[in-house]
This record gives sequence, C-alpha cells and structure tokens, in this order.
Amino acid sequence: MALPPRLSDEERTRALEIAKLSRQERARVKEEIRRGAISFSQFIESAQQNPVLAKMRVVELLESLPGYGKIRAQAVMEKFEISPTRRVQGLGRHQLSSLLKEFEIPTPHTRGKLLVLSGPGGVGKSTVAKALREVPGFWVSVSATTREPRFNEVHGVDYFYYSNQEFDRAIEEDQFLEWAEFAGNRYGTPRAAVEESLSQGVNVLLEIEIAGAKQVRSHSSEAILVFLVPPSWEELVSRLEGRGTDSPERRAARLALAQEELAAASLFDTVIINTQVEEVVQALIRLATS
Ligand code: 5GP
Repeated sequence: MALPPRLSDEERTRALEIAKLSRQERARVKEEIRRGAISFSQFIESAQQNPVLAKMRVVELLESLPGYGKIRAQAVMEKFEISPTRRVQGLGRHQLSSLLKEFEIPTPHTRGKLLVLSGPGGVGKSTVAKALREVPGFWVSVSATTREPRFNEVHGVDYFYYSNQEFDRAIEEDQFLEWAEFAGNRYGTPRAAVEESLSQGVNVLLEIEIAGAKQVRSHSSEAILVFLVPPSWEELVSRLEGRGTDSPERRAARLALAQEELAAASLFDTVIINTQVEEVVQALIRLATS
C-alpha cells in the first residue's frame, strides 16, 4: 500500500491550521442552524458551494436543527437509512430529497418567547441553560465576552470571545440587547441573533447576570424574567465552597455578593427553586408554552 506523502513541519502546521478553521466554521454554522437563522434547505444550498460545510456529518447537521436533539436525529437517520458516519457530500439523491421534504419550514411562525434566566453566582444557571439546549424549540443565546476562553470552551458555541476594542465597537454600534461587567470582564447579548430566532418562532433563553436582566426588563416588555434560587442558603454556601478553586477571601467575597444578589429576586416575574435541574427545565418550558 502506498504510504501517505511525508509533510514538512511547515506543511503540517498549515494543514492543522486549516483543519482548525474548518472545525470553527462548522461550529459557527451549526450554531446558526440551532437558532433558526439558517434553515435545512439553506444549509444544503450553501454546502453545494462550500466544501467545508459539505464535509459536515449528516448526524451533526440533524442534531443542530431547532427541535432535534440526539434521539430525534437518530430516528431520522434510521428512517432514511443514512449511515452514522455519512457526510453531507455523500448523501444519495433520494436521501437528500427525502430530507429536504422532511425539513420544509412550516409558515407562518408565531413569535418565540424570550426567557431571561438570572440568579446569584453558584446557583446553577449554566447547568440549566445547558440542559435547555437539548429541548426542541429552544435556543440558548451565545453571549459575547472579553474574558479569556476556558480550556474546554469553543468560540461561537460557548461564547464569542471579543477583544476590548471589538466589545467597544459592538456597544457603539448598538449590537447588544444588554451588556454588563462581571468580575472584571464584560459580557453582552448579541441582539440580532435573538431577534432572528424569536421571529422564526424559536423560544430564546438568555442566561445572564442580574444587572443585564434588569436592562432587558427596561427595554423589553415581552421578556419573561426568571430568578433562580438555591433550595436554601446553606446549599448555596456548599455549592460555592464545593468549587474548591477560590481562596478564603474570594469565597467570602462571593458569599457576600450572593447575599446581595438574592435580594434582587423581587424584580423578576417569577422565582424558581433549583432543587432538580430537570424540574427547572420543565418549569421554563411551561413558561414559554403557556
Ligand atoms: P462565566 O464567565 O462564568 O461564564 O459567566 C459569568 C457570569 O456572566 C454568569 O453569571 C453569567 O450568567 C453571566 N453572563 C454570561 N453571558 C452574559 C451576557 O451576555 N450578559 C450578562 N449581563 N451576563 C452574562
């Protein structure tokens, strides 16, 4: 068997760089599909011109569709006998036309609901937001931030990582629905993506700190503001201490801040006690669909 050509170090670095950019582009596009900005048929049209998109696995594409988690995506794969490793470029003609038919967009849409989830640090907002990402018909907004990415975070999926100048420009151009400073970094909700999803009939969740939630309240009458609280003060203390990464001074500061934050509950439309993540998710679904 012929051996693959040996690459020079420079060629290898370049190939790795191209692979990384391609992964980032696919992650960005999947996020757009998730929030309803790109429909299935628009994606297929783009993939016909763009080899990076054409290489996406079909199962990943299906899992990104609003309303399609792993289980529904798997069911569609089986229905049209698509192999689990098949890429978009390898779909047969019949498979492609069946998929296009399956995902035709029903119109007109009713506007989605805007839910804002806030609460004291350590209460478990991000775990709830993560669980809601799997729920059909919901999209969790991806914020911009000036903080550095954590090791397991991906640009365009967890956050959009902005430089200070980029963040300043976005503020000047009124691109944020709200923004606030938290623990020395700035965080903002990109307005256009939220608006696009709502108008496509997708429910949107913002997982943001309290100052940002208050701003949403002041310019949006449609938002439903949800304040998440721990089952007890002792539980919050143990969650904050359980993080184990803070110095005693920082822990004391976080607890003092949490005490202040809890006092903001009265400004919200509803308070949910975070006893079980699944129960919080069900309560959010009820709020959006009632
Ligand atoms: P972390 O850096 O741990 O991901 O987030 C820190 C805090 O920023 C969390 O309380 C989170 O809810 C909040 N946050 C994340 N995105 C936004 C945003 O777009 N706007 C506001 N105001 N807060 C945000």
